Amino acid sequence: MADKINVAGVPVDTRHWIGGQRVASAETFIDSSPIDGQPIGEVARGGPAEAQAAVAAARDAFPSWAATPRAERARLLHAIADGVEKRIEELAIVETTDNGALLRSHRRGVMPRVAHNFRFFADWLLKLDHEDFETRGHRNHVSWDPAGPCVLITPWNAPLMLATWKVAPALAAGNTVILKPAEWSPLTASLLADIAAEAGLPAGVLNVVQGYGAEIGDALTSHPDVRRISFTGSVPTAKRIAASAAANLTPLSLELGGKSPLLVFADADLELAVDLAVEQYDNAGQVCLAGTRLLVEESVAEEFTRRFVAKAGALRQGDPRDEATDIGPNIHPRQLEKIDGFVRRAIADGARAVIGGHRRDGQFYAPTLLTDVAQDSEVVQEEVFGPVLTLQTFADEDEAVRLANDTRFGLAATLATGDPERAERVTAGLVAGTVWVNCFFVRDLQAPFGGSRLSGVGREGGTWSFDFYCDLKNTVTAPKGFKDHG
Ligand code: NAD
Repeated sequence: MADKINVAGVPVDTRHWIGGQRVASAETFIDSSPIDGQPIGEVARGGPAEAQAAVAAARDAFPSWAATPRAERARLLHAIADGVEKRIEELAIVETTDNGALLRSHRRGVMPRVAHNFRFFADWLLKLDHEDFETRGHRNHVSWDPAGPCVLITPWNAPLMLATWKVAPALAAGNTVILKPAEWSPLTASLLADIAAEAGLPAGVLNVVQGYGAEIGDALTSHPDVRRISFTGSVPTAKRIAASAAANLTPLSLELGGKSPLLVFADADLELAVDLAVEQYDNAGQVCLAGTRLLVEESVAEEFTRRFVAKAGALRQGDPRDEATDIGPNIHPRQLEKIDGFVRRAIADGARAVIGGHRRDGQFYAPTLLTDVAQDSEVVQEEVFGPVLTLQTFADEDEAVRLANDTRFGLAATLATGDPERAERVTAGLVAGTVWVNCFFVRDLQAPFGGSRLSGVGREGGTWSFDFYCDLKNTVTAPKGFKDHG
């Protein structure tokens, strides 16, 4: 295997990054591009031995990184952000080649956001404080202590964005990191290792290992030296990881799938509601937060559907490197099969495809809207993770909330209404980690982020991230000369 592959003109080292060294594996796997289904190159395929080596490197590097003053850690995180900003074009084209999401969105939205992840948590670290308080004259002082090596496991739908949303706070907290990117899109994690090294991050503080989750995963998540596991991915994998982490009761943060509702009330700005609904096809529907269940008030359902079909029909599907493209390919032939399977079974069950309902040439799935779906049907209850939306109607607010909450998930919800009081009432009744009213995907890193029910365990963001990645300590100091121990 060659150490470096050329990805659209960008050299990418496909070996692991362990203890500040590039490390090969005896085995490799082939990483392919969803754009044309062609191989991009061979990637080192790690297993238990690489997991052990990476955890050992992270453990060895931990004491010195944990003792590094906050200001110096923050400076290094800003230096990593500078490196990301210098390489936005390279990161964007590598990510698009690897996972098929739009180049324009990687260029202008995602990669700047990656840099922001580092800047935000660097700055938040410097502000992190809890006012001291007194108990019978004793001073209570709360501190966030570094916890140790953290295993961070991420999916393929927004690889570097989701990885750095964990890497940045974990490093800011004074922890060392073992990052395991998804096998369908591992490349930008390797570029991040280069950028961090160039920024001066000490060896072993950030380690990157590649491989299939089932081969390298257990060795990472059951390791007794690992102090935190943060995982973004599917529910079945989360259950395996939780079982593996149980061996050491390693604290977990789980950001999982969703089946989020988008509620459209008759009093909504219908044009806005239609725009919000069409937006759910972004990233070819491979967005955990997507509001894939359109719930529309009966009286406007016909008009909403007419306008939706016109807008969705105008979406341009094609090469994600083309600035004019709105929807790119799906990640992998297996994912495409999975999406098609959901749609085929729904149609066999009586659903009607108002638009789409079929594959297109290459790795593309036509944006699909299904109606005539029962609440308890598979396509309404399970995450498809492709450009497939369902539409159901409701008669009143109570029914809207009941349908919205009637799945095993609780990641997000979006509602379109012109009545602020209704927005408040409905929001109060929804089970969701994030609710958007008349907007979608507005995210601030200081907000708590995560899901309820099967959509996740815990919250990350702002201080919540530090609460998770740190060992919180309360120190109680007696006043000078205090003798009463009662
Ligand atoms: P996945 O669960 O198949 O894989 C995610 C990661 O887990 C990959 O890196 C994989 O290699 C690894 N993995 C697999 N088996 C493992 C094991 N036994 N031990 C350790 N690691 C293992 O998920 P996916 O298909 O890559 O991602 C799609 C899923 O992610 C969807 O369900 C989506 O909703 C979810 N997601 C959630 C969020 C969120 O923030 N809530 C964000 C993006 C994606």
